[in-house]
Amino acid sequence: MQQNRVAIVTGGASGIGKETAFKFASKGDRVVVADFNVAGGQAVAEQIMANGGKAIFVKTDVSKYEDVEALVEKAVDTYGRIDVMFNNAGIGRVTPVLDQNLNDYHNVIQVNQHGVAYGIIAAGKKMRELGIKGVIINTASVFGFLASPGTFAYHASKGAVIMMTKSAALEMADWGIRVIAVAPGAVDTPIIQGYKDKGMVDSMKSKVMGNKLTLPEQVADTVYLLTLDEASAINGSVVMADEGYASFK
Ligand code: NAD
Repeated sequence: MQQNRVAIVTGGASGIGKETAFKFASKGDRVVVADFNVAGGQAVAEQIMANGGKAIFVKTDVSKYEDVEALVEKAVDTYGRIDVMFNNAGIGRVTPVLDQNLNDYHNVIQVNQHGVAYGIIAAGKKMRELGIKGVIINTASVFGFLASPGTFAYHASKGAVIMMTKSAALEMADWGIRVIAVAPGAVDTPIIQGYKDKGMVDSMKSKVMGNKLTLPEQVADTVYLLTLDEASAINGSVVMADEGYASFK
């Protein structure tokens, strides 16, 4: 079993990122929890250490390249390498397209699209420099290719994540670095609270097989599997962790 790798998880304070941090730690990997939520991120790192694992928390705003670069440096300073970069931090806003607050639009693009781009670039450069055949996983969404009302900027950002993944994978294969997108459907995390308030969650649930929300642990399991050598043929792909959301009408 691959163990003792170093995995950076952005958005690691909550939801999918938090469960993915726990997953890597439970398998013997060292985890760098990154988030701009300091209390939440520290709590995740502390819980990993309380369970005998290895973790640090690094306060990071993924929408700032200098923060993401410093995050990668901190991981290497602390643990000597990085094997996995999980670019997962994201935000959602629900507003009709023509009533869009442009600040909200820019924020969503800045975090969900540019934040992932910065993670791909900063981690990819470091893996190439250190000669590490690492894995970069980016959180996309079924909303990267299925339209839904009220989430214009979110669709734009997640569509970009999918194409950035393919483009980066094509080039980074030269260094043995794999780049993959994971696309969840409707996952029970705080991000969908805004959708709940607007009555969208029942409609999302009805598209998932079994009429339920996916658990963040299930997405974490998918992410972990994709990082293993046994998944070496999976590259440049969008891997659905959506329980059928995008497969049925
Ligand atoms: P979440 O709100 O529980 O977690 C998101 C985390 O990202 C939070 O800890 C938050 O503090 C952090 N974050 C936000 N902006 C940041 C920034 N600028 N810098 C650093 N950290 C930042 O939600 P989640 O569902 O776990 O979301 C994780 C990812 O999954 C997101 O990219 C989201 O778009 C995606 N996703 C979620 C669902 C779903 O149904 N929950 C479905 C598809 C895709």
